[in-house]
Amino acid sequence: MKVQKSLLTLWIILLPATEYKQKAVFFDRDGVLNYLVKRDGSFYSPQNFEDFQLVAGAKKVIDNVHKMGFLAIVISNQPDISRGKLVQSDLNKMTDLLFEKLNIDDAFYCIHDDDNDTGCRKPAPGLFFTAQKKYNIGFNESFMIGDTWKDVEAAKNVGIPIILIDKDYNQDLKDVSRAKNLLQVVSLIKNEI
Ligand SMILES: [Mg+2]
Repeated sequence: MKVQKSLLTLWIILLPATEYKQKAVFFDRDGVLNYLVKRDGSFYSPQNFEDFQLVAGAKKVIDNVHKMGFLAIVISNQPDISRGKLVQSDLNKMTDLLFEKLNIDDAFYCIHDDDNDTGCRKPAPGLFFTAQKKYNIGFNESFMIGDTWKDVEAAKNVGIPIILIDKDYNQDLKDVSRAKNLLQVVSLIKNEI
C-alpha cells in the first residue's frame, strides 16, 4: 500500500512535466526577418552576408513574441547551399546575426533542393518536428509567420496557424490570415491568444 501511494505521488509530480509543452512562433527567414535582394527585376534570397539586411522592427517583434511567452524559432529553406550559390560560412554569419541582433531562440535550415530533399524542405514538415522534439512544442498553441505558399503548406501540414506577410508576390494565395507587415504580426497573435 505504501509503495502504491508513493508511486501515485510520483505520478502526480511527473504528470504536469510530461504534459507541459512550450509554444513557439516559427518565422520563415527570407522576406520575413530579412529583406529579399532585388536583381534583374526579381527578388532573391541573399547569397552573401553583405546582402543580408534585417527587416526594420524585427527585434521589436521578437521581443513581443518573447513577452507573450513564445519561443522565436526560424525555419528556413536555404537551397542555395546545395546549388553552390551560398557558402556555409556566410549562412553561419547570417545566423549569428539573427541570434545577436534579434535574440532568436533557434534556427533550423533545410539546405537541400527539390531533387535531393530528405523531408526537411518546406512544404515538407521535417524541420518543425525537429524543433518540436528539441523544445517540446505544442503546434496548436504556436504560429507560423511566412511569405510564400511553401510556408502556408508547411504550416497546414503540421497544423500550425499561419500568418502570411502581405507581399506583391503572394497575392494569389487565398483563404489565409494576412499581416500588412511584420510589426502587425504582434497584434494579430495577441488577438488569437
Ligand atoms: Mg520567405
